[in-house]
Amino acid sequence: MKLAAAALVLLTGLLTAYAQSAFGKLELTRLFGTDYVLLTDWARACHCQVLWSRGNEEVQLTNPWSRLVFTVDSQKTTINGVVVHLSAPVAARHGALFISLLDLQTALHPVLFPPKNTVRVPILSVCLDPGHGGKDPGNQEGRRKEKEYTLLLAREVREVLTDAGLMVTLTRNGDSFVPLPDRPEIAGRQEADLFVSLHFNASLAEKNQVQGAEVYCLTPAGANSTHARGDPADAGAFAGNKFDSKNMLLAYQIQKAMVRNLAVEDRGVKRARFAVLRNAPVPAVLVEAGFMSHPAESKKIFSADYRRQLAQAVADGILAYKRLVER
Ligand SMILES: [Zn+2]
Repeated sequence: MKLAAAALVLLTGLLTAYAQSAFGKLELTRLFGTDYVLLTDWARACHCQVLWSRGNEEVQLTNPWSRLVFTVDSQKTTINGVVVHLSAPVAARHGALFISLLDLQTALHPVLFPPKNTVRVPILSVCLDPGHGGKDPGNQEGRRKEKEYTLLLAREVREVLTDAGLMVTLTRNGDSFVPLPDRPEIAGRQEADLFVSLHFNASLAEKNQVQGAEVYCLTPAGANSTHARGDPADAGAFAGNKFDSKNMLLAYQIQKAMVRNLAVEDRGVKRARFAVLRNAPVPAVLVEAGFMSHPAESKKIFSADYRRQLAQAVADGILAYKRLVER
């Protein structure tokens, strides 16, 4: 058993090294103003089998560990059943498939080949950021305000993580207004290892249709955000881009835990240049844990029982990330 585990670790290490070196060998093609590579070339480097018949929109890549599903002309992909939104669409040209190099580097690789912390540098503490507060109520549904439920959820996540042995701090522990740029700064002052901002969503136009959970991480420099919302005009690099790989891995693990633990619609891992993510001094994500505007989902969000399950899922995602990056 030990031998099998050691062999797997060795093989994963070799594959990681091979996949990283593979970037240097992949031939680049310019599409949509960015560098693309042949999906089959990358699949070979990752020991993935490609299942695609010309004219078919769906493309599957599989190896013994992973199953990736791409759709031609779409930015939406699934990695082991969890939706991840790429920055550029997968493209078909002259019977061949192409994927953007930036997406390989910043979306797929961090999930498939998790980045590692420096040896013996563990994740010890997490800063949770209950969205809104004070004069900023966030979304409102009748008398219910987002700021109240983000604080309740943060306290519930804190309980689970504390039980698991982590130190947990909050950017606010009452109904106070904390300016957006101050929130990641608080994580820095508290010497937290991770920053997780907690929110609930709302859709005014389609209250009955729109529901589900999504997790945002900072858009890599030069890439497109999933929605233009929240993006400053200058799309250059921010301090938080130092953690692009870890940001993506943390977002993916939290989204995976929510989608697998709860009967919640998978809106996917998305990328945005939100103020709380731009200059975070540690790996950071923003969780939109459900829609307060959806009649059925809001009932769940407002119930302590469901929020405990949600808190467990968010904590499970953080703990899965911790296990993956530590060595
Ligand atoms: Zn919010």
